[in-house]
Amino acid sequence: MLIDARSVPEGELIDTDVVIAGAGLAGITLARELIGLDISVCLLESGGLQPDKATQSLYYGQNIGHPYYPLDTARARFFGGSSHYWHCPMGRQRLGVRLRALDPIDFEKRDWVPGSGWPFPKSHLDPYYERANRVFQIDNGSNAVGTWENPVTAPRLPLDPDRVATTVFHFGQRKFFFEDYRREIERAANMRIYLYANALEVETDENACRVTALRVKTLAGNQCRVRAGIFVLALGGIETPRLLLLSRRVQTEGLGNRHDLVGRCFMEHPHLWSGFFVPKSPEILNKCRLYLTRSVNGYAVMGKLTVSEKVLRKEQILNYCVSLHPDLVPAKDLAEHSRGAVATKELLSSLRWKERPSSFSRILSDIIKDPIGASEVISRRLKSKLGRSDYRFAFRLNHMSEQTPDPQSRVTLADELDVFGQNRICLDWRLSELDIRTIVRAQEVIDAEMRRTGLGHVQVDLKEGKAPGQLHGGWHHMGTTRMHEDASKGVVDPDCRVHGVSNLFIAGASVFPTGGYANPVLTTVALVLRLADHIRVLMRR
Ligand SMILES: Cc1cc2nc3c(=O)[nH]c(=O)nc-3n(C[C@H](O)[C@H](O)[C@H](O)COP(=O)(O)OP(=O)(O)OC[C@H]3O[C@@H](n4cnc5c(N)ncnc54)[C@H](O)[C@@H]3O)c2cc1C
Repeated sequence: MLIDARSVPEGELIDTDVVIAGAGLAGITLARELIGLDISVCLLESGGLQPDKATQSLYYGQNIGHPYYPLDTARARFFGGSSHYWHCPMGRQRLGVRLRALDPIDFEKRDWVPGSGWPFPKSHLDPYYERANRVFQIDNGSNAVGTWENPVTAPRLPLDPDRVATTVFHFGQRKFFFEDYRREIERAANMRIYLYANALEVETDENACRVTALRVKTLAGNQCRVRAGIFVLALGGIETPRLLLLSRRVQTEGLGNRHDLVGRCFMEHPHLWSGFFVPKSPEILNKCRLYLTRSVNGYAVMGKLTVSEKVLRKEQILNYCVSLHPDLVPAKDLAEHSRGAVATKELLSSLRWKERPSSFSRILSDIIKDPIGASEVISRRLKSKLGRSDYRFAFRLNHMSEQTPDPQSRVTLADELDVFGQNRICLDWRLSELDIRTIVRAQEVIDAEMRRTGLGHVQVDLKEGKAPGQLHGGWHHMGTTRMHEDASKGVVDPDCRVHGVSNLFIAGASVFPTGGYANPVLTTVALVLRLADHIRVLMRR
């Protein structure tokens, strides 16, 4: 049932078994898992079914660290949450999300990564990853490159996998959560969705050991309380710590913040366009299909390069991947020894096509036979430069890597208040020396491998030291309520329960102790499915 919280009488007490605050993909996934059980569930969402300015403006915040997106544009505050913003082209006019599981090494305690180590290995999460793939209606979510490569039309680059490996990303549709799954929840007899319901405070007993209610208010001014046996915060990686910090009536430092950890270790995936892979021969363009977004048996997939676990251990760097983007680059951007790089004329004459088509767009679509539409974008960009003597063919590099969990990289409460009189959020995103060294060193390793195999070389433009200003995030908000068995090292325990509070759980990427290089959504869904299983057991007791 859909309920407009603005119509709920002032002071109403709503009783339910489970309340989930936040209807982004985490909250929606959890609610969906509880459909049909003999329990009542309330899903509270700040926004409506469509975006509105007044609600979205509740997301304003301050950025005082490394440059970041304005916080009111970095997240969507209405039913479906940030899934509305996913923008990866998937073909047939569909937009989607990039998906990938974390690697086994991401779960390990690594001596060279302070604060690393999940309470369980990847194998524990594998069955949940399988279920998470099904949430995205992907039956074959295999990350095995062999499943997706084609030795003739889309081969793997012939690099030593002990040094440089190929990694596969999948794509999932964005509409599932705010369309398909919303309808399922709406129809379920044991579910109530409250729209325009802002959770303002988590109220507890006098020892802050048990949550008693959520205080909820609408922008129309009416207020109510939701009482439940189990409370779940699914507000995203910035808003969840904000609500805990704002819930300070009993625990004055903020609920769950006895050890001053709430909001700390904010992590993103550092994204950076920097450097080039300069191939020795234009023939490479005929062999790079695996590394472009393409459709295989109905699945959208994309390959990237990564460095092996062995290299990560030896070099003591963070996990890392890079995507390759064919382009015609001003010759002046390539270093002296690259000037002999493939000229556009040579590129044209080497391409495999029978008859020279008039438009480069046709040439490229012909080569990579890419139904996803990425080739259209690439070729439009390239067309105008083709045949010009001051351009060379190269691959631009888009790096995406892991970030060190750093307690100084954090969200705190700002002095400025929102219309509810609540402190807005302040983000201080910090990057460490290791974060930057990872991107430099990984490129050097790939460069050595490209040279050894005679494929070309990598021009490394990034220098170790301070993060360049153009390094940006991927809207991935992780780590701010991290998971650890020890209450002095984590906000939630391995069951995603807030340490010291018996009935408060967190669903979302804020519980990640570390984030690997993989986009967070698949792991978020896997963890939420795991949490759903746990709640089912608790409700049976
Ligand atoms: C442009 C863009 C592209 C992205 N691409 C990818 C990608 O390709 N792959 C990937 O893995 N990730 C991607 N992400 C990140 C991904 O979307 C997020 O990690 C994910 O949406 C987080 O889901 P969530 O449910 O935890 O939080 P959210 O999506 O933020 O949902 C939180 C929900 O809580 C509601 N809410 C907030 N405060 C309150 C309150 N006080 N009371 C009640 N309700 C409240 C919000 O309205 C929202 O609906 C992208 C993000 C963006 C913005």
